[in-house]
Amino acid sequence: MSKLARQSNLRIIPLGGLGEVGRNMTLLEYRKKILIIDLGFRLPEESMPGIDYIIPNIIYLRGRENDILGIIFTHGHYDHIGAVPYLVKKLGNPKMFASPLTRGIILKRQDDFPNQPKLDLEEVKNGTKIKLGAFKIEFFRINHNIPDNFGFFIETPVGNILHTSDFKFDPTPINDLPTNFQKLRNFSKRRILLLMSDSTGAEEEGHSFSEKDILKNLEKIFEEAKGRIITATFASLINRIQQIIALSEKFGRKVILEGYSMRTNVEIARILGYVKSKKGTIINVREKEKYSDSRITVICTGAQGEGSAALMKIANREHHFIRFKKGDTVILSSSVIPGNERTVQVLKDEILRQGVMVFHYQMMDIHAGGHAQQDELKEMIEIMRPKFLLPIHGQYSMLVSHGNLAKKVGIPEKNIAIAENGQVVNLSPGKIFIEKTEVPSNYVMVDGLGVGDVGEVVLRDRQMLAKDGMFVIVAVVDRQTGKVKGSPDIISRGFVYLRESKELLRETRKKVIEIIHKTTGAGGAVNWVYVKDEIRNKIGEFFYQKTQRRPMILPVLIEV
Ligand SMILES: [Zn+2]
Repeated sequence: MSKLARQSNLRIIPLGGLGEVGRNMTLLEYRKKILIIDLGFRLPEESMPGIDYIIPNIIYLRGRENDILGIIFTHGHYDHIGAVPYLVKKLGNPKMFASPLTRGIILKRQDDFPNQPKLDLEEVKNGTKIKLGAFKIEFFRINHNIPDNFGFFIETPVGNILHTSDFKFDPTPINDLPTNFQKLRNFSKRRILLLMSDSTGAEEEGHSFSEKDILKNLEKIFEEAKGRIITATFASLINRIQQIIALSEKFGRKVILEGYSMRTNVEIARILGYVKSKKGTIINVREKEKYSDSRITVICTGAQGEGSAALMKIANREHHFIRFKKGDTVILSSSVIPGNERTVQVLKDEILRQGVMVFHYQMMDIHAGGHAQQDELKEMIEIMRPKFLLPIHGQYSMLVSHGNLAKKVGIPEKNIAIAENGQVVNLSPGKIFIEKTEVPSNYVMVDGLGVGDVGEVVLRDRQMLAKDGMFVIVAVVDRQTGKVKGSPDIISRGFVYLRESKELLRETRKKVIEIIHKTTGAGGAVNWVYVKDEIRNKIGEFFYQKTQRRPMILPVLIEV
């Protein structure tokens, strides 16, 4: 294929963090012009101390602000919109398009960040068509566990693409219409070259639960609860919040919203009509004394064990107004993000210790509950009859599983592209393949107000410090002779208890002096970087031999 022809192919580039392919951000590039789908973040894993979020790496777009045609959003979950305040300025504040609820959540969140540009964020509805460069996009409604979720039908010069967003087929949704299969078939009639389809549930057999089934399960818990019900979930899981409010009303309970993001999200959803509640159902936490425990429901943030969220504060007895007590029922209604299992387990144990019942239903999970499973994924492929399939929104194993399903319903293996973040999927009318060169996709970490200043090195340091502590060696060295003056000072934190390790310290001091004398040599310029490296390496080896630990070693050499 000539170079020119290849340039007029479409390139699809998933970006984002930690193996969740294309969930946070995806680029569609045609003749250098780029359409962006979603701009989200994901929560870090336990092994990333002090990191708040992981946002997509946008180095590929640096200096190319003028090539960006716009950003289209699927839905209001943070893994699809959360990075807006961190990245929108760097992308040149492009034109953006979102459904009313998604737009409301994005705009409200902007208020929490200083120095943000005024967003150019247009509202689009089910059926809205827009044109951005060579792309014609039609937004269509599709079920998930948040209202106002949009898939895209995208006409491109190489062929039509159907992007499902996160989805499930739900015959009985909450605050939403059932899936419009006729509409999906109409798209299919216009011929789909490529189907980009949600893979989150690809390893689960059968059909996903309807929001109505989930409601029934929740109802059982409400029927049996004698005291307060405290439910923790994601603030963006609007359907779950609506279900809990509706059940509370049914069982004569008042609802307290706890956690800043929970209150703001529910407020937006109420204004836009996506969360409905009777007057007086939602009360302020200060009014709780007016009602008996059996008439109180608390909906709070923190089902992931997030340190700063409301549930953790209640469990740690740090919450201003709420303490757990015997008779409370706690519902953890969201899946555990891989990597956070231990934190959630510790939290669960702590809650149980306080004499509280805990329900942690898999079927109420944000993932298991909100995403198409094997039967639905096959059905989607059968409806769309695409030439090519690009599984998206999932870990690698889910993408592979999705690919295997596609083969069963007749998509040839060569027409299925399993791509990872940073890889470039090259699409033309007759072929799909993954290009040899990748774009940078190592993730960017957000720590407080710092974006990207915590790199992998800082993270490794934090892991090391957390695991085996640190060991500082301060030696005074005579500049002329290269000899150590006196005995090196030692400071240790989290490694060994100094007073009980006299022998180890004596040997360490001796070794440090030996290393310095050897490396400073006799005469000539001394390479101090080399001296420090030698201390770090040799003492590191020595400690490992003696203790099987690897503390961080910081040599400080003072020349006099
Ligand atoms: Zn979602």
